[in-house]
Amino acid sequence: MAQASYDMIVIGEGVSGLACAGHARRAGLRVATFEASLFGGLVINVNELDGYPGAESGTLLASDLMQANSDAGVTSVQSEVTSIRSVGGGFEVWAGSVYGARQVVIASGARLRKLGVPGEDEYEGRGVSHCADCDAPLFQDEEVVVVGGGDSALQEALVLAKFCRKVHLVHRSSRFRAQQHFVDRVTSEPRIAPIWNATVEAILGTKMVEKVRVKRDGKSEDMPNAGVFAYIGLEPNAACAPSDIARDGGGHLVTNAAFETSMAGVWAIGAVRAGYSGLLRDAVGEAQRVAEAVRERLD
Ligand code: NAP
Repeated sequence: MAQASYDMIVIGEGVSGLACAGHARRAGLRVATFEASLFGGLVINVNELDGYPGAESGTLLASDLMQANSDAGVTSVQSEVTSIRSVGGGFEVWAGSVYGARQVVIASGARLRKLGVPGEDEYEGRGVSHCADCDAPLFQDEEVVVVGGGDSALQEALVLAKFCRKVHLVHRSSRFRAQQHFVDRVTSEPRIAPIWNATVEAILGTKMVEKVRVKRDGKSEDMPNAGVFAYIGLEPNAACAPSDIARDGGGHLVTNAAFETSMAGVWAIGAVRAGYSGLLRDAVGEAQRVAEAVRERLD
Protein backbone atom coordinates (compact mmCIF):
# COMPACT_ATOMS: atom_id res chain seq x y z
CA MET A 1 0.00 0.00 0.00
CA ALA A 2 1.57 3.31 -1.13
CA GLN A 3 2.19 5.96 1.54
CA ALA A 4 1.03 8.64 -0.94
CA SER A 5 0.36 8.78 -4.68
CA TYR A 6 1.31 11.46 -7.18
CA ASP A 7 0.83 12.14 -10.87
CA MET A 8 4.58 12.69 -11.17
CA ILE A 9 7.50 11.79 -8.95
CA VAL A 10 10.78 13.56 -9.72
CA ILE A 11 13.95 11.93 -8.39
CA GLY A 12 16.58 14.55 -7.58
CA GLU A 13 16.31 18.11 -6.34
CA GLY A 14 19.02 19.56 -8.57
CA VAL A 15 18.15 22.41 -10.91
CA SER A 16 16.65 20.15 -13.60
CA GLY A 17 14.50 18.16 -11.15
CA LEU A 18 13.28 21.24 -9.30
CA ALA A 19 12.47 23.06 -12.56
CA CYS A 20 10.56 20.05 -13.93
CA ALA A 21 8.57 19.60 -10.73
CA GLY A 22 7.68 23.30 -10.60
CA HIS A 23 6.46 23.39 -14.22
CA ALA A 24 4.38 20.25 -13.74
CA ARG A 25 2.83 21.46 -10.51
CA ARG A 26 1.92 24.83 -12.04
CA ALA A 27 0.31 22.87 -14.91
CA GLY A 28 -1.97 21.23 -12.34
CA LEU A 29 -0.24 17.89 -11.62
CA ARG A 30 0.26 16.44 -8.13
CA VAL A 31 4.04 16.30 -7.82
CA ALA A 32 6.65 15.12 -5.32
CA THR A 33 10.42 15.51 -5.47
CA PHE A 34 12.82 13.12 -3.71
CA GLU A 35 16.36 13.99 -2.62
CA ALA A 36 18.92 11.81 -0.85
CA SER A 37 21.17 14.64 0.32
CA LEU A 38 21.13 18.44 0.02
CA PHE A 39 18.94 20.07 -2.64
CA GLY A 40 20.67 21.91 -5.51
CA GLY A 41 22.97 19.20 -6.89
CA LEU A 42 26.47 20.03 -8.17
CA VAL A 43 25.47 23.60 -9.05
CA ILE A 44 25.31 24.48 -5.38
CA ASN A 45 29.14 24.55 -5.37
CA VAL A 46 29.33 27.12 -8.19
CA ASN A 47 29.03 30.83 -7.48
CA GLU A 48 29.34 32.17 -11.03
CA LEU A 49 26.83 30.44 -13.27
CA ASP A 50 28.35 30.68 -16.73
CA GLY A 51 25.84 31.15 -19.56
CA TYR A 52 22.88 31.44 -17.21
CA PRO A 53 22.13 35.12 -16.71
CA GLY A 54 19.82 36.22 -13.95
CA ALA A 55 21.03 33.80 -11.27
CA GLU A 56 23.39 35.29 -8.70
CA SER A 57 24.84 31.92 -7.67
CA GLY A 58 24.09 28.19 -7.79
CA THR A 59 22.94 28.23 -4.18
CA LEU A 60 20.53 31.13 -4.75
CA LEU A 61 19.14 29.60 -7.94
CA ALA A 62 18.45 26.28 -6.19
CA SER A 63 16.99 28.02 -3.11
CA ASP A 64 14.66 30.12 -5.30
CA LEU A 65 13.45 27.02 -7.16
CA MET A 66 12.88 25.14 -3.87
CA GLN A 67 10.92 28.06 -2.45
CA ALA A 68 8.83 28.45 -5.61
CA ASN A 69 8.04 24.72 -5.59
CA SER A 70 7.05 24.81 -1.95
CA ASP A 71 4.78 27.81 -2.61
CA ALA A 72 3.21 25.99 -5.57
CA GLY A 73 2.52 22.87 -3.49
CA VAL A 74 5.23 20.42 -4.58
CA THR A 75 5.88 17.83 -1.87
CA SER A 76 9.59 17.48 -1.02
CA VAL A 77 10.68 14.14 0.46
CA GLN A 78 14.16 13.88 1.99
CA SER A 79 14.86 10.25 1.30
CA GLU A 80 16.99 8.18 -1.07
CA VAL A 81 15.08 6.39 -3.80
CA THR A 82 16.39 2.84 -3.92
CA SER A 83 14.16 1.37 -6.63
CA ILE A 84 11.39 2.07 -9.11
CA ARG A 85 8.98 -0.71 -10.05
CA SER A 86 6.46 -0.77 -12.86
CA VAL A 87 3.14 -1.90 -11.37
CA GLY A 88 -0.27 -2.03 -13.09
CA GLY A 89 0.21 0.89 -15.51
CA GLY A 90 1.93 3.09 -12.91
CA PHE A 91 5.00 2.94 -10.70
CA GLU A 92 6.02 2.21 -7.13
CA VAL A 93 8.89 4.39 -5.95
CA TRP A 94 10.73 2.87 -3.00
CA ALA A 95 12.39 5.33 -0.64
CA GLY A 96 12.15 3.92 2.88
CA SER A 97 8.39 3.82 2.34
CA VAL A 98 6.67 3.10 -0.96
CA TYR A 99 5.09 5.93 -2.97
CA GLY A 100 2.83 5.69 -6.02
CA ALA A 101 3.44 7.59 -9.27
CA ARG A 102 1.71 7.65 -12.64
CA GLN A 103 4.94 8.93 -14.28
CA VAL A 104 8.52 9.16 -13.01
CA VAL A 105 11.22 11.67 -13.96
CA ILE A 106 14.80 10.70 -13.09
CA ALA A 107 16.80 13.89 -12.57
CA SER A 108 19.34 12.41 -10.17
CA GLY A 109 22.31 14.13 -11.82
CA ALA A 110 25.90 13.07 -11.50
CA ARG A 111 28.78 13.07 -9.05
CA LEU A 112 32.41 14.07 -9.51
CA ARG A 113 34.62 11.19 -10.63
CA LYS A 114 37.40 10.42 -8.18
CA LEU A 115 41.10 10.17 -9.02
CA GLY A 116 41.39 6.83 -7.23
CA VAL A 117 44.93 7.52 -5.98
CA PRO A 118 46.49 6.96 -2.53
CA GLY A 119 45.79 9.87 -0.16
CA GLU A 120 42.60 11.04 -1.89
CA ASP A 121 40.20 9.67 0.74
CA GLU A 122 42.64 10.10 3.63
CA TYR A 123 43.04 13.87 3.03
CA GLU A 124 39.41 14.60 2.16
CA GLY A 125 38.62 17.88 3.94
CA ARG A 126 42.31 18.26 4.86
CA GLY A 127 43.49 19.67 1.55
CA VAL A 128 41.45 17.52 -0.84
CA SER A 129 38.39 19.54 -1.83
CA HIS A 130 35.65 19.47 -4.46
CA CYS A 131 34.48 23.06 -4.11
CA ALA A 132 36.77 25.92 -5.11
CA ASP A 133 34.12 28.53 -4.34
CA CYS A 134 33.73 27.19 -0.79
CA ASP A 135 37.36 26.47 0.04
CA ALA A 136 39.57 28.77 -2.07
CA PRO A 137 40.00 31.36 0.75
CA LEU A 138 41.53 28.59 2.90
CA PHE A 139 44.38 28.37 0.37
CA GLN A 140 45.32 32.07 0.40
CA ASP A 141 48.91 32.44 -0.95
CA GLU A 142 49.34 28.64 -1.14
CA GLU A 143 50.09 26.45 -4.15
CA VAL A 144 47.39 23.99 -5.18
CA VAL A 145 46.80 21.38 -7.88
CA VAL A 146 43.70 21.26 -10.07
CA VAL A 147 43.31 18.09 -12.16
CA GLY A 148 41.45 17.98 -15.50
CA GLY A 149 41.10 19.88 -18.74
CA GLY A 150 37.34 20.41 -19.13
CA ASP A 151 35.00 23.28 -18.23
CA SER A 152 34.93 22.37 -14.53
CA ALA A 153 38.71 22.22 -14.08
CA LEU A 154 39.30 25.53 -15.86
CA GLN A 155 36.39 27.33 -14.19
CA GLU A 156 37.51 26.19 -10.73
CA ALA A 157 41.19 26.96 -11.45
CA LEU A 158 40.14 30.55 -12.24
CA VAL A 159 38.34 30.80 -8.89
CA LEU A 160 41.40 29.45 -7.05
CA ALA A 161 43.74 31.83 -8.90
CA LYS A 162 42.06 34.75 -7.12
CA PHE A 163 43.44 33.46 -3.81
CA CYS A 164 46.35 31.08 -4.43
CA ARG A 165 49.95 31.94 -5.24
CA LYS A 166 50.02 29.25 -7.93
CA VAL A 167 47.49 26.87 -9.41
CA HIS A 168 49.12 23.88 -11.13
CA LEU A 169 46.64 22.63 -13.71
CA VAL A 170 47.56 18.97 -14.20
CA HIS A 171 46.05 17.63 -17.40
CA ARG A 172 46.54 14.19 -18.93
CA SER A 173 46.33 15.51 -22.52
CA SER A 174 48.10 18.24 -24.50
CA ARG A 175 45.05 20.44 -25.08
CA PHE A 176 42.04 21.56 -23.07
CA ARG A 177 38.56 20.46 -24.06
CA ALA A 178 36.87 23.37 -22.26
CA GLN A 179 34.88 26.20 -23.84
CA GLN A 180 37.15 28.72 -25.58
CA HIS A 181 36.34 31.58 -23.20
CA PHE A 182 37.63 29.50 -20.26
CA VAL A 183 40.76 28.53 -22.25
CA ASP A 184 41.43 32.19 -23.09
CA ARG A 185 41.07 33.31 -19.49
CA VAL A 186 43.22 30.47 -18.14
CA THR A 187 46.02 31.02 -20.63
CA SER A 188 46.18 34.72 -19.79
CA GLU A 189 46.16 34.14 -16.01
CA PRO A 190 49.82 34.15 -14.81
CA ARG A 191 48.96 32.34 -11.57
CA ILE A 192 47.73 29.25 -13.48
CA ALA A 193 50.48 26.96 -14.77
CA PRO A 194 49.32 24.05 -16.95
CA ILE A 195 51.26 20.81 -16.64
CA TRP A 196 50.50 18.91 -19.86
CA ASN A 197 50.48 15.14 -20.42
CA ALA A 198 50.67 14.56 -16.69
CA THR A 199 48.77 12.58 -14.09
CA VAL A 200 48.48 12.62 -10.30
CA GLU A 201 49.83 9.43 -8.73
CA ALA A 202 49.46 10.14 -5.02
CA ILE A 203 48.53 12.81 -2.47
CA LEU A 204 50.99 13.01 0.40
CA GLY A 205 51.16 14.75 3.75
CA THR A 206 51.05 14.35 7.51
CA LYS A 207 48.03 16.07 9.11
CA MET A 208 47.23 18.01 5.92
CA VAL A 209 48.14 17.69 2.26
CA GLU A 210 51.75 18.72 1.73
CA LYS A 211 52.77 17.27 -1.61
CA VAL A 212 51.27 15.88 -4.79
CA ARG A 213 53.10 13.20 -6.77
CA VAL A 214 52.82 14.11 -10.45
CA LYS A 215 53.99 11.83 -13.26
CA ARG A 216 55.16 13.43 -16.50
CA ASP A 217 57.35 12.07 -19.31
CA GLY A 218 57.68 8.80 -17.39
CA LYS A 219 59.12 10.53 -14.31
CA SER A 220 57.45 11.11 -10.95
CA GLU A 221 57.97 14.29 -8.95
CA ASP A 222 56.65 15.22 -5.49
CA MET A 223 55.47 18.83 -5.83
CA PRO A 224 54.86 20.86 -2.64
CA ASN A 225 51.16 21.77 -2.65
CA ALA A 226 48.55 22.42 0.03
CA GLY A 227 45.44 21.47 -1.90
CA VAL A 228 44.06 19.17 -4.58
CA PHE A 229 40.90 19.80 -6.60
CA ALA A 230 40.05 17.02 -9.08
CA TYR A 231 37.58 17.75 -11.87
CA ILE A 232 38.03 14.77 -14.16
CA GLY A 233 34.47 14.29 -15.29
CA LEU A 234 31.18 13.05 -13.92
CA GLU A 235 29.57 9.71 -13.14
CA PRO A 236 25.78 9.48 -13.44
CA ASN A 237 23.68 8.74 -10.36
CA ALA A 238 21.58 6.10 -12.08
CA ALA A 239 21.54 3.32 -9.47
CA CYS A 240 17.84 3.86 -8.64
CA ALA A 241 16.73 3.33 -12.26
CA PRO A 242 15.38 -0.13 -13.13
CA SER A 243 18.14 -2.35 -14.56
CA ASP A 244 16.13 -2.98 -17.75
CA ILE A 245 16.26 0.73 -18.71
CA ALA A 246 18.88 1.12 -21.47
CA ARG A 247 22.20 2.75 -20.50
CA ASP A 248 25.21 3.87 -22.51
CA GLY A 249 28.76 2.64 -21.85
CA GLY A 250 29.22 5.26 -19.11
CA GLY A 251 26.07 4.22 -17.25
CA HIS A 252 23.97 7.22 -18.39
CA LEU A 253 20.28 6.56 -19.06
CA VAL A 254 19.47 6.49 -22.76
CA THR A 255 16.43 8.54 -23.81
CA ASN A 256 14.60 9.30 -27.03
CA ALA A 257 14.34 12.86 -28.38
CA ALA A 258 11.46 13.54 -25.96
CA PHE A 259 13.66 12.45 -22.98
CA GLU A 260 11.68 9.26 -22.28
CA THR A 261 13.75 6.20 -21.36
CA SER A 262 13.29 2.71 -22.79
CA MET A 263 10.67 2.14 -20.06
CA ALA A 264 7.50 4.03 -21.06
CA GLY A 265 6.48 6.50 -18.36
CA VAL A 266 10.02 6.89 -16.99
CA TRP A 267 11.82 10.00 -18.21
CA ALA A 268 15.39 11.20 -17.66
CA ILE A 269 16.74 14.76 -17.79
CA GLY A 270 20.03 16.53 -17.06
CA ALA A 271 23.37 14.95 -16.23
CA VAL A 272 22.01 11.46 -15.57
CA ARG A 273 21.03 11.01 -19.22
CA ALA A 274 23.20 10.14 -22.20
CA GLY A 275 23.82 13.11 -24.48
CA TYR A 276 23.26 15.90 -21.97
CA SER A 277 25.19 18.98 -23.12
CA GLY A 278 26.40 19.98 -19.64
CA LEU A 279 24.80 23.42 -20.01
CA LEU A 280 22.45 24.54 -17.27
CA ARG A 281 20.09 26.28 -19.67
CA ASP A 282 19.65 22.97 -21.53
CA ALA A 283 18.86 21.13 -18.29
CA VAL A 284 16.13 23.69 -17.57
CA GLY A 285 14.83 23.40 -21.16
CA GLU A 286 14.66 19.59 -20.87
CA ALA A 287 12.82 19.96 -17.57
CA GLN A 288 10.17 22.17 -19.10
CA ARG A 289 9.66 19.90 -22.12
CA VAL A 290 9.26 16.79 -19.97
CA ALA A 291 6.82 18.52 -17.61
CA GLU A 292 4.70 19.45 -20.64
CA ALA A 293 4.97 15.98 -22.20
CA VAL A 294 3.90 14.31 -18.96
CA ARG A 295 0.96 16.65 -18.56
CA GLU A 296 -0.18 15.86 -22.11
CA ARG A 297 0.27 12.13 -21.48
CA LEU A 298 -1.90 12.28 -18.37
CA ASP A 299 -4.64 14.48 -19.89
P1 NAP B 1 34.56 16.69 -18.73
O1 NAP B 1 34.09 17.68 -19.69
O2 NAP B 1 34.19 15.26 -18.90
O3 NAP B 1 36.15 16.81 -18.67
C1 NAP B 1 36.88 15.94 -17.86
C2 NAP B 1 38.36 16.26 -18.01
O4 NAP B 1 39.07 15.40 -17.14
C3 NAP B 1 38.90 16.03 -19.43
O5 NAP B 1 39.79 17.05 -19.75
C4 NAP B 1 39.60 14.68 -19.32
O6 NAP B 1 40.75 14.59 -20.11
C5 NAP B 1 40.02 14.63 -17.87
N1 NAP B 1 40.00 13.27 -17.33
C6 NAP B 1 39.04 12.33 -17.47
N2 NAP B 1 39.38 11.23 -16.80
C7 NAP B 1 40.57 11.46 -16.24
C8 NAP B 1 41.42 10.70 -15.41
N3 NAP B 1 41.13 9.45 -15.04
N4 NAP B 1 42.58 11.26 -15.00
C9 NAP B 1 42.91 12.52 -15.37
N5 NAP B 1 42.13 13.30 -16.14
C10 NAP B 1 40.98 12.77 -16.57
O7 NAP B 1 34.10 17.04 -17.21
P2 NAP B 1 33.76 18.45 -16.54
O8 NAP B 1 34.76 19.46 -16.86
O9 NAP B 1 33.49 18.12 -15.12
O10 NAP B 1 32.38 18.89 -17.22
C11 NAP B 1 31.24 18.03 -17.14
C12 NAP B 1 30.11 18.63 -17.98
O11 NAP B 1 29.64 19.81 -17.34
C13 NAP B 1 30.57 19.02 -19.37
O12 NAP B 1 29.52 18.80 -20.26
C14 NAP B 1 30.84 20.50 -19.24
O13 NAP B 1 30.73 21.20 -20.45
C15 NAP B 1 29.80 20.91 -18.23
N6 NAP B 1 30.21 22.10 -17.48
C16 NAP B 1 29.79 23.30 -17.98
C17 NAP B 1 30.18 24.45 -17.33
C18 NAP B 1 29.72 25.76 -17.85
O14 NAP B 1 28.98 25.82 -18.84
N7 NAP B 1 30.17 26.84 -17.28
C19 NAP B 1 30.98 24.40 -16.20
C20 NAP B 1 31.39 23.16 -15.72
C21 NAP B 1 31.00 22.02 -16.38
P3 NAP B 1 40.71 14.51 -21.74
O15 NAP B 1 40.36 15.90 -22.17
O16 NAP B 1 42.09 14.10 -22.06
O17 NAP B 1 39.68 13.48 -22.05
